[in-house]
Amino acid sequence: MTLVTFDFDDTLTQTLAVWDEEDDTLEDTEFAGPNLVIIQALHACVANGHEVRVVTSRSDRWLSDTHAKLELFGVLHLLAGVHHTNGQWKAEWMAENDMTPIKHFDDDTEELARFPIGCETVLVPMHPSWKGRG
Ligand SMILES: [Mg+2]
Repeated sequence: MTLVTFDFDDTLTQTLAVWDEEDDTLEDTEFAGPNLVIIQALHACVANGHEVRVVTSRSDRWLSDTHAKLELFGVLHLLAGVHHTNGQWKAEWMAENDMTPIKHFDDDTEELARFPIGCETVLVPMHPSWKGRG
């Protein structure tokens, strides 16, 4: 079975940027629910017979939060695994754990750049609220 992997934060989720009115500096970030386009892509991967896993650089401390949100998004039961790398590069962690995805979705170009040539990488755009400020 071929493996497809998804990052969690700002890939399966969306985050809103909240800007300071006065000086245009980033004031806060807000969890804004699922990224429905990418959730749809995850459903399509499962329907196409791929094994799907979530690989996040989050700390293990957030495991129950990650699980709860994936359950809320209605996709937890579709996943072959949810993995926290604790800050380690995802591509490196997957290589060490014998995972060879054919495709990886992520909002972070530095993460994507580390995947080997055989893996298709998909750059997920940040929420539009991040554009043109700061
Ligand atoms: Mg991310």
